Amino acid sequence: MPPRAAERAPVLGGAVLDPTSILFITLDSCRYDTFAAASAPNLKQIGPLHRADAPGNFTFASHSAMFVGFTPGDATRREAYVNPKYGKIFRMQGGGSAGPAEPFVSLNGRNVMDGLKRLGYLTLGAGAVGWFNPTTPTGRTLTLDFDRFFFPGNMHSLGRQLAWIDRELSDPGAKRVFLFLNVGETHLPYYYEGAPWPRLPSPCLAFGTQNDAVESRRRQLACLEWVDGQLAALLARFQHANVVICADHGDAWGEDGVWEHGVSHPKVLEVPLVFRLTQPPTSHSRQRRPLWRKASGRLNRTLVRLADRLPT
Ligand SMILES: [Zn+2]
Repeated sequence: MPPRAAERAPVLGGAVLDPTSILFITLDSCRYDTFAAASAPNLKQIGPLHRADAPGNFTFASHSAMFVGFTPGDATRREAYVNPKYGKIFRMQGGGSAGPAEPFVSLNGRNVMDGLKRLGYLTLGAGAVGWFNPTTPTGRTLTLDFDRFFFPGNMHSLGRQLAWIDRELSDPGAKRVFLFLNVGETHLPYYYEGAPWPRLPSPCLAFGTQNDAVESRRRQLACLEWVDGQLAALLARFQHANVVICADHGDAWGEDGVWEHGVSHPKVLEVPLVFRLTQPPTSHSRQRRPLWRKASGRLNRTLVRLADRLPT
């Protein structure tokens, strides 16, 4: 009997993703308390919510660190992936201390994208904030190692980012994929296409004169809940694969007189982290050498050494 429609995995066209594929989403500037308070069923079903510290206080610093394995973490926990000091999701060869726990994946390369490409991954990226503009020298630094990268030109075009991703994943060659998505709607001025408020002025701005913490909280929350709905199909597409979702940093909303990000205030560093990591790349993408081959290799080396000692 064929499965009922509700039991079938959604089919969105294109290749079936290898379960070792990885979806990595950064919700730019999303505060931990925003994520905790949000009605965001699609994002929250990925796994338990962790309160983590970002590795940087602005986009470039944080993503540069994450792209070499320093993902946000809770330093008080002795749990791999929750605390990258204890065990990393992405462990780069030569990239800092490994910690006592096994990493999710060990990589050899300049960064996560370069390392995963060496394991046969297709690396795709879609980044919304200006640091991901590949036409700028700084933007090239963050985007150069992706096979393909899409920059929409503003921070409120998640729809175009998702349409680009859909086209890329529809390619029959897109099977084992590392997909990075940076979401801009949660970044100030906290706006999504069609939001029932004007995009500007921003209620949060460093040294701004029209700052409003209540409005900042209300708008970022509404943006995140809208984003959650938009991401439903993408998350369903990766339902049998690995997913990491976090913010690259938060924003200060007037705490201690501080606004925005780019400064190391606790509210800037505190970010949400959720993940589902169940299909390590090594289980599929690396061919382990059979034991009998290892044994025969040792036997051959022994025979060679014996042959060297025989009289000729
Ligand atoms: Zn950012």
